[in-house]
Formats: sequence, structure tokens, C-alpha cells
Amino acid sequence: MPKLPDSSKTFNCREMLQKILDGDATPEQQQQFKVHMEECMPCYKGYELEMAIKALLQKKCNGHGAPPDLIEKIKNKISHITPH
Ligand SMILES: [Zn+2]
Repeated sequence: MPKLPDSSKTFNCREMLQKILDGDATPEQQQQFKVHMEECMPCYKGYELEMAIKALLQKKCNGHGAPPDLIEKIKNKISHITPH
């Protein structure tokens, strides 16, 4: 069950999440993030949401790229539930 992040750790959540989503992370980093995600709610939610967007866009656009206004729409929706 994911909890709030442990502030004593120097793990850069945003940076790591972005790396994972861009596919820039090494297998070690992916593993590290998986473990981290279990105890960090922002990462867990962020990852879950990005994956949901990706799946949705792929489904809607058949991999031809999503129209920017659609992406904006989804991101607006998400900004209501994502903690800042
Ligand atoms: Zn995190």
C-alpha cells in the first residue's frame, strides 16, 4: 500500500518519473522506481495517470499521434486529481 514519501530519501521523484515515461531509464532505474513507487503516492499516481493517458491516446489515435487539443483536455482533467 503506497504511503506518503519519506523525506529523508534523496530520490528525485519528478526526474525519475520523467525518465521512466520517456523510456530513458536503465533497467536498474526501472527496478528502483518500481520499488519506490510502492511507498510514494505521488509517483504511483503520476505513473498510473501517464500510463492511462498513453493507453487512451493510442487507442483513440491508432498510434498516429494525438491531436494537441485532446491531450490538453485530458491533462486538464488530470490536473484536478494530481496533487501539486
Ligand atoms: Zn516518488
